[in-house]
Amino acid sequence: MPNYKASISSKLPDTSTSIFAVMSKLAHEEKAINLSQGYPDFPSSPELINLVSEAMKQGYNQYAPMPGIYSLREVISEKITSMYGTVYHPETEITVTAGATQAIFTIITAMIQQDDEVIIFAPAYDCYIPSIRLNGGKAIEIELQAPDYRVDWKAVKDTISNKTKMIILNTPHNPTGTVLSKDDMIALESLIKDTNIIVLSDEVYEHLIYDGLEHQSIARFPGLAERSFLVASFGKTFHNTGWKMGYCAGPSALMEEFRKVHQYNVFSVNHPIQKALSVYLKNKENYLVLPEFFQKKRDLFLNAIKDSKFVFKPSSGTYFQLLNYANLSEENDLELAKKWTREMKLASIPISMFYSGLIDNKALRFCFAKSDDTLLRGAEILNKIE
Ligand code: PMP
Ligand code: GLN
Repeated sequence: MPNYKASISSKLPDTSTSIFAVMSKLAHEEKAINLSQGYPDFPSSPELINLVSEAMKQGYNQYAPMPGIYSLREVISEKITSMYGTVYHPETEITVTAGATQAIFTIITAMIQQDDEVIIFAPAYDCYIPSIRLNGGKAIEIELQAPDYRVDWKAVKDTISNKTKMIILNTPHNPTGTVLSKDDMIALESLIKDTNIIVLSDEVYEHLIYDGLEHQSIARFPGLAERSFLVASFGKTFHNTGWKMGYCAGPSALMEEFRKVHQYNVFSVNHPIQKALSVYLKNKENYLVLPEFFQKKRDLFLNAIKDSKFVFKPSSGTYFQLLNYANLSEENDLELAKKWTREMKLASIPISMFYSGLIDNKALRFCFAKSDDTLLRGAEILNKIE
């Protein structure tokens, strides 16, 4: 096709293809083991798949209600209350979304106006900044300090201004695997209690938390819950990232604004899958097994590379493990991730891509949501790197 001649004024001039798409494509082309993009290489539950296909056969193939089917919103509400205490009313305070990405975009679109500031913690998940910019907002990055990647609440206090509209939290944290503590949440609660700041709490890895730690959802803290959107992803919880299903919970005044946007950027989401999830989610075991399930994978992987030259601290949450390679190479992390995909046949994610300033801490992210065999083959390659 001939090139489009009129000049295009890009709304995201500095944005290129997401690193997850880039590395997975390269891994595929190079037939490399893909520990880059975060998705499982093992199947989702046959019971859940069966429930979806039954729902399709029963005829749930037309539009679902705009906020999601009530029975699913009801179980989501029960799940949040039983785990974290806060009661979200299914009618007015929960909306089923096409994955967490849509929930995040919808929240930001509903809340952020021209020149509003949004505080994010870097390294930050890739969809936050473009969503903020597309809505005329300004992302203000606060750096988490390597190697522990903790939040400096004094820095947050100093960064808050009268333009700050929102703070985006992500715990357990992608890509570092750190989790916020109760003290962190209390610090945030007290910092914003006399402001109009709202919180977007990205908790897609809420069930992927290890070593006996407890997930500190905003829904455990009334002073935060009353001004927060909680975002969750069924893709992460039930090993089916390709279904793009998730939800958003928040107080009714916020949810009302959320739905004004939701109804025009997606209207409603996959009906048969909602039917299936409304049954599957009732069995708490289906998500309560996850810490043990994934901790075993983390430990298998880390044990297999314990004699390598990589430096690491076991991930406390998510299904990602950072490995610091400063002992092995001085190369830039993006170049090295690509080189090892081509030459060693192992793909990972360079962490600099999670900073707008491309800060290179010589760390690569490896996904351990993989079969034991894939993890051991990946570890074998890492052990060979000298
Ligand atoms: N937030 C974080 C921190 C993520 O890692 C991801 C990727 N799963 C998402 C949001 C998006 O989730 P979803 O695939 O449900 O859109
Ligand atoms: N959340 C996934 C990750 O961090 C990727 C999702 C995506 O590719 N957008 O790897």
